[in-house]
Amino acid sequence: MIFVFVFIFGLALGSFLNVVINRLGSDKSALKGRSVCPHCRAVIAWYDNIPLISFAILGARCRSCHQKISWQYPLVELGTAIALVLLYFRFDIMPTFWGYALFTAFLIIIFVYDLKTYLILDRVSVPAMGIACIVSILLGRDVVSLLLGATLGAGFFAAQFFLSGGTWVGDGDIRLGAVMGLMLGWQLLLVALFIAYVIGAAVGIVLLASRRKQASSQVPFGPFLTLATFVTLLYGQELLTWYVNVALL
Ligand SMILES: [Zn+2]
Repeated sequence: MIFVFVFIFGLALGSFLNVVINRLGSDKSALKGRSVCPHCRAVIAWYDNIPLISFAILGARCRSCHQKISWQYPLVELGTAIALVLLYFRFDIMPTFWGYALFTAFLIIIFVYDLKTYLILDRVSVPAMGIACIVSILLGRDVVSLLLGATLGAGFFAAQFFLSGGTWVGDGDIRLGAVMGLMLGWQLLLVALFIAYVIGAAVGIVLLASRRKQASSQVPFGPFLTLATFVTLLYGQELLTWYVNVALL
């Protein structure tokens, strides 16, 4: 039954992350102040701000101006709730769960913001590095592995960035590589990079096949990296053990 509470907590956290994401790019960076409709600036009442439910009841339209409400809201709420439930099933309500939940909140912000704007902001990735360090050290990770991971993660993308003159990856990916290394350590960082490229290739093929994108068009890489990091938090150790066993047989 606890997972129901975790799910509801995830919905509320997702609702908060939506506010953070929407105010990141604007000068209204303060999180204080009521949420307003981006079209008509009407203040959104509390009963129109209930995760998932309000979106469904309002039929995805603003109560006052009837303009469409972005699908970002319910998707981030649901995505955050599912992510936390997965962490709960994997780690129970232990320090590991809370540490990873906090870190996952940063991953979700980076995922959505990069998808929307093709940018990974320093004011998200730099605090994420701090959180990754603190959580990793509290969980007793090997500091040498973390530092190696950060160097490897940042170096991997820095090399691509400078070789391609910034066309293959953005400079935000360099900082994200460091975030991943600080959270995962160097061994699991490699697992996460591998997963990111597998997901990226799969999505790329689907987009090309459905003619949503041309081969030359830009696709932000941050969403693949953050998703892969989350999968690695959940199952990376098992994947690594399985791979090493297979490779050594
Ligand atoms: Zn409106």
